[in-house]
Amino acid sequence: MAIATINPATGELLKTFEPLNDSEIGAKLNLAQAAFLKYRNTSFEVRSRLLNKVADILEEDKDKFAKLMTLEMGKTYKSAIAEVEKCALVCRYYAEHAPQFLADVYVDTDASQSFVRYQPLGIILAVMPWNFPFWQVFRFAAPALMAGNVGILKHASNVPQCALAIEEIFRIAGFESGIFQTFLVGAAKVADIIADDRVKAATLTGSEPAGASLAAAAGKQIKKVVLELGGSDPFIVLESADLEAAATTATSARMLNNGQSCIAAKRFIVTQTIADKFEKLLLEKFQALKVGDPMSNDTDIGPLATPNILNDIHEQVKAAVDNGAKVVIGGNPINNQPGNFYPPTILTISPDNPVAKEEFFGPVAMLFRVKDIDAAIELANDTPFGLGASAWTTDETEQKRLISEIEAGSVFINGMVKSDPRLPFGGIKRSGYGRELSIQGIHEFVNVKTVWVK
Ligand code: NAP
Repeated sequence: MAIATINPATGELLKTFEPLNDSEIGAKLNLAQAAFLKYRNTSFEVRSRLLNKVADILEEDKDKFAKLMTLEMGKTYKSAIAEVEKCALVCRYYAEHAPQFLADVYVDTDASQSFVRYQPLGIILAVMPWNFPFWQVFRFAAPALMAGNVGILKHASNVPQCALAIEEIFRIAGFESGIFQTFLVGAAKVADIIADDRVKAATLTGSEPAGASLAAAAGKQIKKVVLELGGSDPFIVLESADLEAAATTATSARMLNNGQSCIAAKRFIVTQTIADKFEKLLLEKFQALKVGDPMSNDTDIGPLATPNILNDIHEQVKAAVDNGAKVVIGGNPINNQPGNFYPPTILTISPDNPVAKEEFFGPVAMLFRVKDIDAAIELANDTPFGLGASAWTTDETEQKRLISEIEAGSVFINGMVKSDPRLPFGGIKRSGYGRELSIQGIHEFVNVKTVWVK
């Protein structure tokens, strides 16, 4: 894919970028390695000050960064502002808590002194997606840099200006050059970069094929990888639930980021007795959503990021319908304007529809009717993915069952799945492995060194 900015709301090609050649990549890796050898000796105080400065810049210039995201990948401007603010938050969170997360841990043994020390690994490669072009990067960079690592970013090819802006933020904040660099390269270069001796580990957020490819390349070199991949999160609604609240949250949870979020609720699993009522409420809320110019403040849903994503989601909807799904609302691309617009869509669908196990990366909700909680849990788990899950019930026994029996990296009861710097984030099964955020996130890219003194 060419490295370029193409406005998804208009289809206009705005800017193209030359990818780095091999000697430029080599020079940047040298710079990163030299920076690491100095930076690893800096104190937490220094790193915290720099990271808080990053947060200041994000907050001061949030309008500029939000506009860049909206321009390159079509998220609504208001959601882009919220994304920049969340990036500042994760920087401040790790600036404050990293010293405690990485403090030596003393353990009583037969030694006169034994403890665990957390030390940085070196250059960490981050391969990132376009859907949250700032958040995905900062949730990696804040802990990685606080731990004393240096970061190199291979961002998605459709958000190069976001990638360059992020590099610039770290530079202006005072991080020495080489501590955080953007590499404008295509996906084909990733295997060579992870194979380089100077690069010690990698994290990838994106699709399964991309994750599998990076993990294979890293595996050959015995290098650690964290993978945050796709999801088809269930949203379970049981009889005792507050249906109005559930339908309101269901709408936000499905439409987050124009429907292009790994943790968007994608499969709505509702018990038969309340299914008609829930469907009606969901329909009303979907009908009220305004699709249009992502820069406009009253827009709820902007364009999909690329024509391919639009095409893929429509192919999935057609395949679902060909196999018996019914369209309650939506179901066809909006063709009376330029840009990659798809309307809010609800499909009532049966679990044996071959498309039902796929991830829908756009504003399409699949609605399933089930007999009871047993069937709901069974269907929720009947997926290759295991990222998040949201479940709605006021019955405590049911809540306990859902918490323990749902196979996913997170379960939210009576709330929407979301990431929060204070809580670990990640998946199981084909949604990936490893965790980001919280104390678990900062421990992914460190040498957990055991020290034993006689
Ligand atoms: P993608 O195609 O996998 O792209 C993600 C990144 O991987 C891009 O930088 C891309 O570069 C690169 N890439 C693609 N193929 C690669 C390969 N073979 N080897 C190495 N790198 C490669 O993902 P997407 O389709 O844009 O993003 C959507 C997917 O990401 C969805 O499945 C979504 O659920 C998942 N996601 C997961 C999370 C999470 O936290 N679990 C968060 C957000 C998104 P190019 O752009 O140059 O191709």
